[in-house]
Amino acid sequence: MVRKRFIVSGKVQGVGFRPFVYRLARELGLTGWVKNSSLGVVIEVQGAKKDIANFSRQLKEQLPPLALIVDFREEDKNLVFGEREFHIILSQKGEGHNVLISPDVSICTDCEQDVFNPKDRRFLYAFTNCTNCGPRFTITKSIPYDRPKTSMACFKMCEECLQEYSDPLDRRFHAQPNACPECGPEVWLVDAQNNELTRGVDAIWQTANLLLSGHIVAIKGLGGFHLACDARNKKTVLRLRQVKHRPSKALAIMVRSIEDARKLCQVSEEEERLLLSAERPIVVLAKKDPDQDLYLSPDTNTLGLMLPYTPLHLILFKFLADCTDDFPVLVMTSGNSASEPISLGNREALSKLQHIADFFLLHNRDILVRCDDSVVTICSKGKLFYRRARGYVPLPVFLPKNGGNVLGVGAELKNTICFLKNNQAFVSQHIGDLKNLETYQFFLEIISHFQKILEIEPELIVSDLHPDYMSTNFAQEQNLPHLKLQHHFAHIYAVIAENKITEPVLGWALDGTGLGEDKNFWGGELLYVDPTKGKHFRVATFKSIPLPGGDMAVLEPWRIALGLLWKLQLIEKCCLRGLESKAQKIILTMLEKNVNVVWSSSLGRILDGITALLGLISRISYEGQAPVILEKIQATEEIKELYTWEVEKQDSLLVIDTYNFFRQIIKDLELKLDPGMISRKVHLSLMNVLTQVGGNLAKKMQVQYLAFSGGVMQNRTFANFLPVLVEKKDLIPVMHHILPPNDGCISLGQAFYGQIRLR
Ligand code: ZN
Ligand code: ZN
Ligand code: FE
Repeated sequence: MVRKRFIVSGKVQGVGFRPFVYRLARELGLTGWVKNSSLGVVIEVQGAKKDIANFSRQLKEQLPPLALIVDFREEDKNLVFGEREFHIILSQKGEGHNVLISPDVSICTDCEQDVFNPKDRRFLYAFTNCTNCGPRFTITKSIPYDRPKTSMACFKMCEECLQEYSDPLDRRFHAQPNACPECGPEVWLVDAQNNELTRGVDAIWQTANLLLSGHIVAIKGLGGFHLACDARNKKTVLRLRQVKHRPSKALAIMVRSIEDARKLCQVSEEEERLLLSAERPIVVLAKKDPDQDLYLSPDTNTLGLMLPYTPLHLILFKFLADCTDDFPVLVMTSGNSASEPISLGNREALSKLQHIADFFLLHNRDILVRCDDSVVTICSKGKLFYRRARGYVPLPVFLPKNGGNVLGVGAELKNTICFLKNNQAFVSQHIGDLKNLETYQFFLEIISHFQKILEIEPELIVSDLHPDYMSTNFAQEQNLPHLKLQHHFAHIYAVIAENKITEPVLGWALDGTGLGEDKNFWGGELLYVDPTKGKHFRVATFKSIPLPGGDMAVLEPWRIALGLLWKLQLIEKCCLRGLESKAQKIILTMLEKNVNVVWSSSLGRILDGITALLGLISRISYEGQAPVILEKIQATEEIKELYTWEVEKQDSLLVIDTYNFFRQIIKDLELKLDPGMISRKVHLSLMNVLTQVGGNLAKKMQVQYLAFSGGVMQNRTFANFLPVLVEKKDLIPVMHHILPPNDGCISLGQAFYGQIRLR
């Protein structure tokens, strides 16, 4: 007989870990107990030596689907006499604080069976969940994760639910959001004036009918509202685009099953796993027929597709399928107007979405924390995130070293924040554009919420260098030591952190414009970063181009094209299509006098300029639209002759001659080369120079890693092929796989840098 204590930490609460331990111990005839503590889950077992060895092995091998062990320690203990059984010690107040709140989890197959079993008491019940699935992060106000601290607090469990909740052998043992039609939340349907039409299952049935008859319905989901409509109904989709002021950005869709997904898109095994995963993100997939359904994603050959992840979605899709011959496809886009955060409350949605939605499917399980759908795609080297939110947040990113508590407040667009504690970096869900007042409010809410649920007191706050960012202002106002880190260095620190690299790295920050250390606007920089010392400097860049009108040039890339032609003295030779000569004249005067012209080395802006030169766009309707279009039109033919590059040395900085590159493009334009071929040449030539310059300098500086970050890395061509080219140079490519390469990663880079400086 022996007795052992195991201390297990990681994702072990709210995931059915204790009942699993209970069952395992009983099966093996062991006595003892299991409980949550501030160290993690603590287990003591007593029994025959071989049974305890078995217990320890099976504990690690047969983990419940959502559990994740990060640390596992064991100690010998003295035997306890007279112990007869194994039991679960329930949490005392204040215990289990260090245990993480789990992200929201898509419905499990057992619950799905309950929902569609006419004999089950949860038949067609939209809030069915268990220990293995359901809402977590979005319904939790504070820790410890317990029903009174969630939005389920106001629902008193009925006898039967309480029975399940209290039985360690039940799948719903301590499932905090446990509910049934008797005692739990319910749905109801209202029109845009908030007149109630119907409740319960009938409300979902009516919603299906309304969707199929061409209406837009705002549906309350897990982390906020969706705006839904029938994706086959082009007229309604175009109406939705119009009222949502979203003329051309891709709209996410939802289909019922993986089989239906295959009818629209190419789905690899890896993509299938991701679509069906517990996180169930929107997965960006290649369309089967690139010319099909152009009104859903006119600028890309891809569709953002997700599968139902709540019982409500599943029931809705069952009804939709019952009502049509064809398989149902819904547009499911975030329920917000323009750049505001996704709506979460019933009243908020009714007032903000009234001009967009015809009907509202509401429910009374309050969403306490907004969380958009995550958006991911699969590239040659693994996952590429566009947006990290539902399903992934608040899981930490694990760093290689321990350190102090730091808050990174992120950039301005696509903002996230990051609390760093020991070696765990808690990056928030996508917050959005802080210039918007409502979004800034959301930013403040998330900072205080994260601080509360993680119990972190930061010793240091790190912000962007840009003095006008709302996040920088926030950092300034706090009564804390404050460091500023230049935007593009933060990008490279972020990609180093998530890849756990502990050596110097050369990294390309390929981005939109960000204020540089020399007051110019950067965004095409090769940076040396040493994460052991927190030392960093710039080694190469693209020669800056003029952006007439600054921010206006970002919205109107034709200005950039005009600026390029002016700089190359080709204005007479080459005229831009479809532009008013009057506007052109004003811009040219601005350039001549160098008034209101910003100079930038941003690769994003360079691609904007090229897209406008090719006559593909003059004004954008969403961030990054021009490069997205440029990528789409790429020819697939093999191309032998690429654009050549000239590199010059200015002091210790290598400067890539952007203008020489433009000259060759304009020559091809004059030769009437197909824009698809030019685009392909642009992509291949850029990848060429990035790996050439990066590779040569890496060799010279004895660095073995070449990293990539920045918004431009959302380009699938770059994400797929750059790592391959880097490997050919005998270097190790470092890419983002946990966070998006766009500004969603900035807060991690800032916090990581802050921790190095504290050290
Ligand atoms: Zn379940
Ligand atoms: Zn009940
Ligand atoms: Fe950026």
